[in-house]
Amino acid sequence: MNTTPIEVRDLNKKYKDGTWANRNISLVVEHGELLGILGPNGAGKTTLIRQITTELVPTSGEVRIFGIDGVSRPNEAKGYMGVMPQEASLYWGLSVRHHLRIFGKLRGLPAKTASRRAEELISDLGLGEHRDKVTEELSGGLRRRILVGIASVSEPPLLILDEPSVGLDPEARRYLWDLLRRYQRRGSTVLLTTHYMEEAEALCDRVGIIHEGSLIALDTVDNLKAAHGYEFKVTFGSDEGAETIYGGDTGMLVQQAQDRGIQEYAVSLTTLEDVYLGLTGERARLNERAEG
Ligand code: ADP
Repeated sequence: MNTTPIEVRDLNKKYKDGTWANRNISLVVEHGELLGILGPNGAGKTTLIRQITTELVPTSGEVRIFGIDGVSRPNEAKGYMGVMPQEASLYWGLSVRHHLRIFGKLRGLPAKTASRRAEELISDLGLGEHRDKVTEELSGGLRRRILVGIASVSEPPLLILDEPSVGLDPEARRYLWDLLRRYQRRGSTVLLTTHYMEEAEALCDRVGIIHEGSLIALDTVDNLKAAHGYEFKVTFGSDEGAETIYGGDTGMLVQQAQDRGIQEYAVSLTTLEDVYLGLTGERARLNERAEG
């Protein structure tokens, strides 16, 4: 078996109405990594994920899952992955335990194994006290945990999650991060999408930035920051609202602010958000404003 979980080559997706949602995307997800695709709403993340999970047929290009062509052999490719789609929902009136058992059986586990696996997941997901509760009795965060459980019920080598933490409060989000890290430690490869900068920064080994359908960067957060060119920033309020100036020397940055008569400013390290703004052209605008 080819050991590369995901290989995407020159992927393009044009919807019927003429929207090019993905343009020439190529990426390789390596074994055992946790890779995040970051971009705002409408950037093309779900379109990319749905082609990788074989739900959408690419307009052109190639998707391989452990070497298997996702277009010509979708069922075989799907056998390697557990998927949590963005719009996934649970059945009303069905308990946590029953969900996990039923989905285990749907994934081909024998009844006994499905029951055992459900119990394992309940403990793994921290759902012990909720095991017999039905969907409507559970918070959004707990429901999301069950969906992660369903995606991983057959212990697939590859987990794919589309915006898994949308709408979760910080505590539930952190729980989800821990859970995904645990899967990774056990040898799974994880691909997820997010529009939360801090999630990409805190959770992912590598981050791919998608902008207007194109993958404009793919690297570790540290490398992305290094490529950004500036290590520090000074932010302050002005007549034009919040402004940011970037540089490699905090003393010079502070001097620049002071030269403009700014008394109150904050010095900090650049973040992934700065990298994102820089790559999508926003930083130039911020600098122009700061210098003007
Ligand atoms: P994201 O997941 O980053 O929010 P999507 O992949 O959902 O982005 O969407 C990318 C672009 O494709 C958007 O402009 C969106 O409006 C458009 N789009 C998504 N689905 C369809 C569709 N079924 N038909 C036409 N356009 C679509």
